[in-house]
Amino acid sequence: MSIRENIEHINQLKAEAAARSGRNGEDVLLVAVTKLHDVDEINEAIDCGITDIGENKVQEIMDKFDHVKPVRWHLIGHLQTNKVKYIIDKVSMIHSVDSLRLAQEINKRAQQHNLTMDILIQVNSAEEESKFGIKTEETGQMIQDILDTCENIRIRGLMCIAPFEENPEDARVYFAEVKKLYDEYGKMEHPHLDFQYLSMGMSGDFHVAIEEGSNLIRVGTSIFGARDYSKK
Ligand SMILES: *Cc1c(COP(=O)(O)O)cnc(C)c1O
Repeated sequence: MSIRENIEHINQLKAEAAARSGRNGEDVLLVAVTKLHDVDEINEAIDCGITDIGENKVQEIMDKFDHVKPVRWHLIGHLQTNKVKYIIDKVSMIHSVDSLRLAQEINKRAQQHNLTMDILIQVNSAEEESKFGIKTEETGQMIQDILDTCENIRIRGLMCIAPFEENPEDARVYFAEVKKLYDEYGKMEHPHLDFQYLSMGMSGDFHVAIEEGSNLIRVGTSIFGARDYSKK
């Protein structure tokens, strides 16, 4: 299947899952995950209506940035503090904030560029050792600490990477847990908090994530096919 057909198919599945949770397909943003895919493939996806792309490595954003058509860039992978400066003026949202130290570095660089950076806080609700993200119970304190010290950051919501499960149904509880946090902290009143994004769901589990309330899915493989890790 072509990239175009894949995107159409995902949009249809996305709409069906959204309907099952009482929403419309347009209520769920599709971020095409382009890591390890080349500029031609990315531009093809953009020609097919993709407005947002996600990369998990700073270096790949740097390499591709000038060659990709106008689009919103999302940093979705773990971000080292010493690399924030390279992407601060390139991405529209950072999904993977999981420490106050990282938030403060983002804040400092955003200040230097006279911009406000949108971020999501990554919650590792399954508490997997292998994954980044804060624990569920740390969410409130993290939000408060960022709001107290980071004037050039706007907290837009939460992000979660569920454990890989043979059966995506088994990930449902982890999505539901983060949705609860999203509803709870989204009610907070603060000029630098404006929850609009609950980033949950990838190729294998986005239908379940949407049913549990996700409104932003990060999909790579189902759009572009399998990634060739030998290229890196
Ligand atoms: C690679 C990646 C995805 C996309 O995964 P697929 O299974 O290819 O859809 C989503 N989110 C993050 C954080 C990723 O690193």
